[in-house]
Amino acid sequence: MPRLYLHVALPVPLRKTFDYSIPASLHGTPHVGARVRVPFGKRELIGVILAVDEHTDSPVEKIKPARHLVDAHSLFSPQLMQLLTWAAHYYHYPIGEVFSTALPTLLRQGEDLYDNLTHWRLTTLGLNLTTDALRGAKQQAAWQALVPHGTHGISEDFLKRLGIERTTLLALAKKELTEEFGQHETKLGTPQLKYAESPITANSEQETAIAAITRNLGQFKTFLLDGVTGSGKTEVYLQSIASCLANHKQALVLVPEIGLTPQTVARFRARFAVETVMLHSGLTDRERLRAWRRAYLGHAAIIIGTRSTIFTPLPHLGLVIVDEEHDLSFKQQEGFRYNARDLAVLRAQLAQCPVVLGSATPSLESLANAKAGRYEHLWLKERAATLTPTTIKLIDLRGQKLQAGLTSALKEAIASRLKKDEQVIIFLNRRGFAPVLLCHDCAWQAKCPRCDAKITLHRNPVRLHCHHCGFSQQPPSHCPECQSKALRAIGAGTVRVEEALQELFPKVPVHRIDRDSTRKKDSWHNLYADIETNKAAILVGTQMLAKGHHFPNVTLVALLEADSGLLGADFRAGERVAQLITQVAGRAGRAHKAGLVLLQSHQPEHPLLQQLLASGYQGFAELALNERQAIGLPPYGYLALLRAEANYPETAFAFLTEAMSHGQVLADAPEFWGPIPAPMEKKAGIFRAHLLVKHHQRAALQRFLTLWLNKVNALNDAKKVRWAIDVDPQELA
Ligand code: ADP
Ligand code: ZN
Ligand code: ZN
Repeated sequence: MPRLYLHVALPVPLRKTFDYSIPASLHGTPHVGARVRVPFGKRELIGVILAVDEHTDSPVEKIKPARHLVDAHSLFSPQLMQLLTWAAHYYHYPIGEVFSTALPTLLRQGEDLYDNLTHWRLTTLGLNLTTDALRGAKQQAAWQALVPHGTHGISEDFLKRLGIERTTLLALAKKELTEEFGQHETKLGTPQLKYAESPITANSEQETAIAAITRNLGQFKTFLLDGVTGSGKTEVYLQSIASCLANHKQALVLVPEIGLTPQTVARFRARFAVETVMLHSGLTDRERLRAWRRAYLGHAAIIIGTRSTIFTPLPHLGLVIVDEEHDLSFKQQEGFRYNARDLAVLRAQLAQCPVVLGSATPSLESLANAKAGRYEHLWLKERAATLTPTTIKLIDLRGQKLQAGLTSALKEAIASRLKKDEQVIIFLNRRGFAPVLLCHDCAWQAKCPRCDAKITLHRNPVRLHCHHCGFSQQPPSHCPECQSKALRAIGAGTVRVEEALQELFPKVPVHRIDRDSTRKKDSWHNLYADIETNKAAILVGTQMLAKGHHFPNVTLVALLEADSGLLGADFRAGERVAQLITQVAGRAGRAHKAGLVLLQSHQPEHPLLQQLLASGYQGFAELALNERQAIGLPPYGYLALLRAEANYPETAFAFLTEAMSHGQVLADAPEFWGPIPAPMEKKAGIFRAHLLVKHHQRAALQRFLTLWLNKVNALNDAKKVRWAIDVDPQELA
């Protein structure tokens, strides 16, 4: 027998796998995709077996034996292994960390693959008992809960939720009426289509879209579902999922971080009586593992989740949906900087199933793919539930007297809507009370001591908070420069707007939705309760308000600073502003009343705003694509960003400069832009600098990166900085 080695991906920041021998003491068969415990230096680590073969590049005498096989089965299908391996190469990130990211924390830590919950069932004696044989109310209740489950029993966890305690079950066990047993559920399930409510009759555009998608079930094809808010995209997802379930396949639905609201999930659960699991950052490790297992075993038919859900094992994957595909939250911005939207397309290709990218404001990347014929473009042009169009108007902010950021024209518009018992959304992408604390005498401004940024004033409790690094302190009682007591809070955050509106309209409920307010447990609940009365109400919020919610009685939406995002240096700034305005505007007039959108702006003549007003997002996108093409920026060019962080700005610059000089002499060398300081050079006390590389060909850029990063890794300066490569960067921040 030839000697075999395990090639193991370990969660360490090294761009390689590690080889181990298979000692006789290793019980069981090592499966590719299963976890294994191995020695690593003085530690023991859990890794994933990527291959088992005779080959090794390491000196044989140095190879250590693996210690213990954690799993008797693979955790990853060959397709998922392929996806992860591809992602590690493409994003140039250590493969061990990539595999580790793909696993729920508890599995990373060595928890059993299968659920080994304690279960309880009645014994023969217990099953033959008559109802009145038990005296205590608690024992009665326990017995009654167990009877319907017969010899299969149910989990102790579930019994606990019914209010039945372990002590009661043990008392019954003493009388030999119940018994405890472990149940390893390892049987694969298959999804079935079961409706809870019948589908809505699709309109003809929806019909066309649904037919196109379902016709392609069983093969790979990418669709761009392009439809304004309220055009019925979700209905298209639901009806496509129905066909997927009818084929006994699982559906994977990715949604943006703030789009995963209880309302979203409720809509899926209301339609289908199938097991639907949700994966998001709010879950405990235990809940996450439970959902993962249900998906892995094929019992969960619909899996809805944020970015990292793309790595969930799905034995019967039949359809992938990415809702709001333009959303930034699909791109991980640190560590393993993958783009879940892009990986979704690859995953569908590997699974040979269709993938639907849906948006009211598609990314320019997806639009370019649709134009080039790589994606099939599906349109929903009419609003499904209503035909009332929204009107968009600009309000010039220049020379206006403002009250908490509100012009008098806007205040009048709000008053007139409230009078008709309609609802209003005021949108401002800045939480807190005021963004600037200013000395009226010497113009000193409060800054974060750790960042190149102003620090935001908050109320309740009164504190200064840095939104970039989390730093927080008491506001000074007087100016540290001139000792004056005349400190003024300048500008408005959501809290100040909320206060002002409550003062202006004391009888109307004003709700604030931002990261601060939604930390409180009941905030969504209270909000919905008020919204559902369909009476006058005001919502003030950040972009959290822009997604996933349905507010049918909202007839006015206002953006207090429609153009603030245009100040950014990022070449995507215009695209982001256009998307945000279009998304927020989509909240107006969803029911049977005409909607009005008011955009307050300091530069109403800005071409982007004019373009948006004249020809909508589509018109804007046409122009923007032409511009990008002319200068070779994405989607017509390919970028990678080398980021460096150090305690001194010179250190970061020296590293990037040296990295560039090594890159310029390599084959397939790209264009280099930089090094330049990051837009916020100092953040949390660290200095940051960027070197951008640009190539007109994706494959050539990849070849270059592989060669280059090997060199960069070996640089002496590389040890003095924290550096990272960001492939297809979404934010140059
Ligand atoms: P989107 O996901 O594009 O924002 P939705 O699917 O949420 O749009 O649809 C908006 C509203 O229109 C929902 O209340 C939905 O129930 C309703 N709707 C969707 N399709 C239809 C249809 N064909 N007939 C009637 N109402 C529909
Ligand atoms: Zn001063
Ligand atoms: Zn800070």
